[in-house]
Amino acid sequence: MSCLLYTSFHLRIAQFRQNAVCGFDIWGKISVFYIVVIDLHTHTLLSDGALLPSELARRAYVIGYKALAMTDHVDMSNIEFVVPRIAEAARVLNRHSKLNIIAGAEITHVPPKIIGELVRKVRSLGASLVVVHGETIAEPVIPGTNRAAIEACADILSHPGIISIEDAAMAKENGVALEISSRKGHSLSNGHVAKVAMATGAALVINTDSHEPEDLISQEYATAILRAAGIPEKNIETVFANSQEIADNAGRN
Ligand SMILES: [Zn+2]
Ligand SMILES: [Zn+2]
Repeated sequence: MSCLLYTSFHLRIAQFRQNAVCGFDIWGKISVFYIVVIDLHTHTLLSDGALLPSELARRAYVIGYKALAMTDHVDMSNIEFVVPRIAEAARVLNRHSKLNIIAGAEITHVPPKIIGELVRKVRSLGASLVVVHGETIAEPVIPGTNRAAIEACADILSHPGIISIEDAAMAKENGVALEISSRKGHSLSNGHVAKVAMATGAALVINTDSHEPEDLISQEYATAILRAAGIPEKNIETVFANSQEIADNAGRN
């Protein structure tokens, strides 16, 4: 059974176009430059990031971000400490900034059997975006984590490594987005993730998984990473539109 009700494709594209700026290139043709970044996976001091939520938000805004989700690592030990604090930071910062700050969490390295319970708990504690730390080849994530995250209807399965075609098909069915990552190590399987997503129709998003200020990226670099993952030009806009849709559904805290 599908987890989410999607808005129509046309609505998604219409929302995305609102964030585009048209201009003319040197050949006089109309070009479209996408100048905004939507990043749905970052970390703050509340887990292993380097910055306070306030500084992360400020730095992201200054370099042109439009929306930023703060998704600190949580397990059963810290979930009740971290999530309400991120939600409070997002609520206050959103009153004073044009940047849309989304309160989230990344459920990380927990036994797959309790992922569903923690997904529900993250939402009940005030976060509007749930990421699950997928089976990256850079870390010994417990096998079965990808499947458990998809069955639990997380919003995003981050760095899903060598995700199976069956799991990608279930991700499409359940409306769980698969992540292309700009982060060292996690990005090694971007090509595989892109291939199975395109084969199954699963939605892709691109995120930075920022821990340090220098991990934040431009839209231009995000586009280059998508191209390097083998995603055709015609599908790149759709990846950004997927992030826009998730940010819109999450709303403002
Ligand atoms: Zn992660
Ligand atoms: Zn992360």
